[in-house]
Amino acid sequence: MSSQAPYGLSGDDQPFWDGAREGRLVFQHCDECGYVRWPAAGVCPECLARQATWAEVQGTGTLWSFVVYHRAYAPALKDQIPYPVALVELDCGVRILGRLVDMDPADAVVGMPLAVRYREVGEHGVVPAFGPAEIGVDHG
Ligand SMILES: [Zn+2]
Repeated sequence: MSSQAPYGLSGDDQPFWDGAREGRLVFQHCDECGYVRWPAAGVCPECLARQATWAEVQGTGTLWSFVVYHRAYAPALKDQIPYPVALVELDCGVRILGRLVDMDPADAVVGMPLAVRYREVGEHGVVPAFGPAEIGVDHG
């Protein structure tokens, strides 16, 4: 399997994608103030410190917003359109995009609890997706 970041993203986020392949959500944590950085950044947006440590977070959060894609922005997903994409606010404070899976998007309600799943997306490798929290975290 490729070690490239999915969707042509830069290598700054490589530990995130490596974590996803292992079924873990891994983000930069600021060594000074503890702020969790996503996307990865060379400088903390909260305290301007440079040092950070990559560490795993709980894969739980709430649905902040969502849309249904009727166009495949990632070619590997062209056979799945239309599909819902969620903006999830994780319990660690990070807001992250991912597909909404294991549920009918008609049942999606802003604020509902979600948990991470990991999905293989063709040549892109493994990416986080999100589904109802009552099913729990699925490590793929
Ligand atoms: Zn900081």
